[in-house]
Amino acid sequence: MTVRLAFLGLGAIGRPMAGHLARQFALTVWNRTPSRAAVFAAAHAGVRVAATPREAVTGAAIVVTCLPTSHEVLGLLDGPDGLLAGLERDALFLDCTSGDPENSVRIAARVAARGIAFADCPVSGGTNGAAAAALTVMVGGDPATFERARPVLACFGKRIEHLGPVGSGHAMKAINNALLAVNILAFGEGFSALARAGVPARKAVEVLNASSGRSFVTEGLVPDRVLTGAWPNTFRLALLEKDVRIAVGFLEAQGIRSPLLHLAGELMARCRATLGEDADYLEAIRLQERESGVEIRG
Ligand code: NDP
Repeated sequence: MTVRLAFLGLGAIGRPMAGHLARQFALTVWNRTPSRAAVFAAAHAGVRVAATPREAVTGAAIVVTCLPTSHEVLGLLDGPDGLLAGLERDALFLDCTSGDPENSVRIAARVAARGIAFADCPVSGGTNGAAAAALTVMVGGDPATFERARPVLACFGKRIEHLGPVGSGHAMKAINNALLAVNILAFGEGFSALARAGVPARKAVEVLNASSGRSFVTEGLVPDRVLTGAWPNTFRLALLEKDVRIAVGFLEAQGIRSPLLHLAGELMARCRATLGEDADYLEAIRLQERESGVEIRG
């Protein structure tokens, strides 16, 4: 008999992840905006749409959430239509949100009282990585939960790593994205100066990518999205700003000074306030271009 799985949160990254799960499990989906769940179900044979979180998880052995932050996950727990009203005893609850460690511990404790195992399982690799089932998955949870989770996560993940107890996956992900944000901001500043000085942008990127300052931003993102001027919308800047804030909070909790990440957080917050909630994360570079009066194209 096919195992039943509930997926909640069909956003930019949730959709391709759920698409892979639909091939392996009897999938029920729930999304805050129901029309998006209906579109998803129409594109994936056999997928059932639930009207409420409670209905989605009733009878499901595995529950996967992929929401903006841990606050939205917490927000789904309670109430007559909430997760806790429907979650089955012994269910496996995997939160693929890029959430925060403290709230993950809270969520794990809430569901553990009902005999439910929880792991934080944030992902990296973007919407392209999700479409190709090639995500990196960073797992926080006890070892037995990790072993139960692994085959589920393998449906969309290529590298699946256990980092430690609940919260460790979210801590790892926040640090990863804080470093991503630093690279984006630093690229925007440095290459605006090169553009103003008249250095051809494509050549400068090629030289950088053959030198020690290269990064995923300059190798993976800039050639396809900035130099071409394509600027696709794949990951909201608001979510990256949230990740840097989580990272700064994590460093504070560990008693580590973080002047650089603090500043990155402030700069990202300014970008978010200027560009709005729907802007893509690489718009931070475009804002820097605008304010510098240059364009980094080639
Ligand atoms: P989106 O903004 O595209 O989608 C967010 C999803 O959460 C939507 O399904 C939305 O529903 C739902 N949602 C928002 N608010 C609520 C709420 N209050 N209650 C219930 N559901 C809600 O985000 P992404 O899919 O891009 O990101 C999801 C998570 O994955 C985030 O934590 C993000 O940081 C992380 N991530 C994203 C990556 C990417 O490339 N996009 C890469 C790696 C991680 P509705 O349809 O109604 O708006």
